Amino acid sequence: MTTAFVYDPFERFHTFLGHPECHQRMESALALLESDGILDTLARLPNAPASIDAIRAVHSASYVEQLQALSQPVDASAATAQDVAAMWLDPDTYLFGASYEAALRAAGGLLQLTDAVMTGQAANGFSMNRPPGHHARPHSAKGFCLFGNAAVAARHAQERHGAQRILIVDFDVHHGNGTEEMFYDDPTVLFISIHQYPHYPFSGGMYDCGSAAGEGFNVNIPFPDGVGDAGYLAAVRQLVTPLAQEFAPDVIFLSAGYDGHWMDPLSGHRLSVSGYAALAQELLALAESLCGGRLICALEGGYDLNAMPHCILSTLRVLSHSRAPVSDPFGAVEGRPDAADKVIAAVKRQLGIR
Ligand SMILES: [Zn+2]
Repeated sequence: MTTAFVYDPFERFHTFLGHPECHQRMESALALLESDGILDTLARLPNAPASIDAIRAVHSASYVEQLQALSQPVDASAATAQDVAAMWLDPDTYLFGASYEAALRAAGGLLQLTDAVMTGQAANGFSMNRPPGHHARPHSAKGFCLFGNAAVAARHAQERHGAQRILIVDFDVHHGNGTEEMFYDDPTVLFISIHQYPHYPFSGGMYDCGSAAGEGFNVNIPFPDGVGDAGYLAAVRQLVTPLAQEFAPDVIFLSAGYDGHWMDPLSGHRLSVSGYAALAQELLALAESLCGGRLICALEGGYDLNAMPHCILSTLRVLSHSRAPVSDPFGAVEGRPDAADKVIAAVKRQLGIR
């Protein structure tokens, strides 16, 4: 069984020079993956935009129409996106003429991957597409995100492939507010977000546990600054693992943001490349024990152009059971796992986990 990989080069038309969420992220990641040779060992999936129906499963029709109306087709006479003016949907989130198409393609790549994994064509996989998705809300864009890629794909797995229960783990350093909002009252999707708190987007407190039938199916693990690899690993072992075992998912999605790396400019969680590899290993083992190994990863954040590519490479090594060892050229820095322990104990009390 193979590990699938999908990347859509159309993303280069949606970029803003100097913005952390820019095309240079993909350029540096692709350069590393190509020089490493790992892409030759993976199943490359075709690119295709998501259907409007798939997007509308989690976004309102009015928002999708608005985004389409605000975008214009790529101007062939413009050399780059910088030659046309950006529109700002919120203080962080830009939109160009090609952005709507790029967002459809970012979600579409993940749908291709979901189809491949759910039909058994691939064992697991990684969608390296942008713009990211986990901050996008049902009715609006937010935090660099236009469409909620992981949420779109989770609904697709249910509606197209008959998955009953979906686990979405989000280890991006920022709270996955959009994914949370889309499934807040839904007991068929267990959403677990590990994030820095308080920090952007300033949601994700431990008492936000879901509502109505979804109560208990939304889990926030809000860590203070600097918890490091050990804090995240403890969260996965002591919270994600028992919760997943009880929930018994049919598939696990991972919102894979690497902006918790210690070199990243947007956070202070002090993770390392080796730490992200260990997290991927834990989650893959969980998927292999619970749901036939179906682990579907979607890139979210990660803004250090040196660290993020190595984080992606290390995840791909783990997913594909590569014989080549994970290499961490930047090393680890000391974290504060004791600070993580207090939060984990509090979340356990909140959820009734011993
Ligand atoms: Zn992030």
